[in-house]
Amino acid sequence: MTPISKSLLITVCSILIMGLAGCEENQQNDPQQSAQSGLLIQNATIVDGTGAEPYQGDIRVVGERIVNIGDALEPLEGDQLIDAKGLVVAPGFIDMHAHVSNIHEYPQAENFLRQGVTTIANSLHSHDLPWPLDEYTANLEMAPNVAYFAGFNWTRKTVMGLDNRPPTDAELEQMKTLVRQAMEQGAFGLSSGIEYVPAAYASNEEVAELAKVAAQWGGIYVTHMRDEGPKLLESIRDNAEIGRQAKLPVHINHIKSTGVSNHGKSRDALALIDEIHASGVDMTVDIYPYAAFMTYSDLLFPAWSLAGGAEDFRSRIKDPVQRQNIATEMKSIFPQQAGKDFDSIQFEGLPHIEGYAGRTLADYLRDRQQPQTLDAAIDALIDLQYQGRFAAIYHSMAEADIERFLLSPHTMISSDGDLAVSREKHYHPRTYGAFPRVLSTYVRARGVLSLEQAIYKMTGQSAQRLGLQDRGVIQAGNYADLVIFDEQSITDHATFLEPHQYSTGVKHLLINGQLAIQDGRLTTALPGQTLKHQQKH
Ligand SMILES: [Zn+2]
Ligand SMILES: [Zn+2]
Repeated sequence: MTPISKSLLITVCSILIMGLAGCEENQQNDPQQSAQSGLLIQNATIVDGTGAEPYQGDIRVVGERIVNIGDALEPLEGDQLIDAKGLVVAPGFIDMHAHVSNIHEYPQAENFLRQGVTTIANSLHSHDLPWPLDEYTANLEMAPNVAYFAGFNWTRKTVMGLDNRPPTDAELEQMKTLVRQAMEQGAFGLSSGIEYVPAAYASNEEVAELAKVAAQWGGIYVTHMRDEGPKLLESIRDNAEIGRQAKLPVHINHIKSTGVSNHGKSRDALALIDEIHASGVDMTVDIYPYAAFMTYSDLLFPAWSLAGGAEDFRSRIKDPVQRQNIATEMKSIFPQQAGKDFDSIQFEGLPHIEGYAGRTLADYLRDRQQPQTLDAAIDALIDLQYQGRFAAIYHSMAEADIERFLLSPHTMISSDGDLAVSREKHYHPRTYGAFPRVLSTYVRARGVLSLEQAIYKMTGQSAQRLGLQDRGVIQAGNYADLVIFDEQSITDHATFLEPHQYSTGVKHLLINGQLAIQDGRLTTALPGQTLKHQQKH
């Protein structure tokens, strides 16, 4: 870096420190760099990630950065040319929540790249944090950029196991130390999955104590809420309380209103979030565009029945009185989490019984000549849990709620997807299709969002939320994370029954200036960076 650009960098950083959470390395339009050969994208329809209307132009990339945007830029000798005529060029999509703690096993992350995703927020719900984070990420090579979070569930499990009780003072201090260490190692904040054991046993105050540590480092609090169905509004209020106590922004992952009894609740949820904003807590959400979600069977059971782990659950089930109590509570939980009938629970697979990948609880009852009644269904679920919990798709949301959430100015896009490492696994189709599905279904087919609105929710708004100063918007000086796609044909193909279908329509994908997809073909490039949260000074 030349002395001139270095001094520019310092100026840019000092301004940013005064303003927001911090700064990443930044560069202005440097005439020396503009003169180097690089990559020139011509005749593009630019949707710049700010929500502004599309415009025509050319984009020059040199090294990792965008150096110039203009009308009919002249190619320099040695420039690689990309003709983007008829195509949209947008900032690479930022996935606000996905599970990629195992990216070392599948560094190309093709199912994300094919969606146009260049940056993934690996916020943790039930998953573990690779630890120590800095050692884990030191030699990590991968195609997309990844942002890490301190994990509340992992932290509590590490210190307290699966105990259903408040922490002692010493345990709380140990947990705070782990969060502090994660923040020191570049985490973007604290993330939690309060619906899951052992976080389900934590009070708002306990969560807020750890969120305060993230707040000291300028981080945010990201959460999978305690409840996304009957207690949706209470759960949102809990998060307002945590934001208020810990004085930090709150971001709710995969907002939804689950369970046939809760359809339509998006109206109240959004009104409540507006109210929370007005009261001074900065709260945002993200969503994946499917009327079904996927998680473990645990959420069909009362939390107390799972305390202590699988062995404790088994001994409770052997006690007829306790089994009866569990079954009684499950009867009221079921319509709050599942859909109208027993087809609404579709197994990812059953750990101890072959042949159930993609099949449903209704199929299971039929195969065993059981009636399609709630009593029989709950008996079957208890037996299955006894054999080892299973993962399933819960077809239990309403399209009207999804559209309403999508339209809110507080909402960004996430996939909640996994790295598609195995064709044996029955993934939720969001793993392959979330971002193209927003563009094909909600922009192109239904016109719920304009293209620039949708792109903003996938890029500029998300970058701002994470505190990424130089990604998410197409402007000179920013990292060249760019997706070049055909807005008329970009489409998701994965379905619940045939999930292993890549999305199509992304023609080229640049990550930190390198082509990760070229002419529709995956390259071997691994240009992704571990993003480090820029701490408050
Ligand atoms: Zn979650
Ligand atoms: Zn998740």
